[in-house]
Amino acid sequence: MKQRAWTKRDQKDWLERMPVVQCEPIKHVDGGHWLWRHWCPWCKCHHHHSPMPGHRDAHCTDASSPFHESGYILKLDPQFAERDRLCQLERSEAKWRAEAVTARKAAWLATPEGQAALNEHNVIAAKDST
Ligand SMILES: [Zn+2]
Repeated sequence: MKQRAWTKRDQKDWLERMPVVQCEPIKHVDGGHWLWRHWCPWCKCHHHHSPMPGHRDAHCTDASSPFHESGYILKLDPQFAERDRLCQLERSEAKWRAEAVTARKAAWLATPEGQAALNEHNVIAAKDST
């Protein structure tokens, strides 16, 4: 039997059946990076996801969780909007700093001093690999 095409209506029905979970932005204890977490009523624990709204596969540890079938839709809990904005700012600043360091390093490597250090490093690396 030929499968019927997926219509806009099917998509709307699918989305309406999808569970929505309210997320809280947090900083991960290890490294402090920004995540969203939500309390899972099924697993009775927090699940963590990258901080973006939208549909995700369930992170349920319990194989019988109904979320495994549907996944769920992440939404930011509006009471945490300001905290989320700050986490986002902090991440873009950290990214900018990392890029600035990379740019400074590249500029230094282009100088005679940098070239000499790089050559010395390559000689040592070549010796180590033999
Ligand atoms: Zn769960």
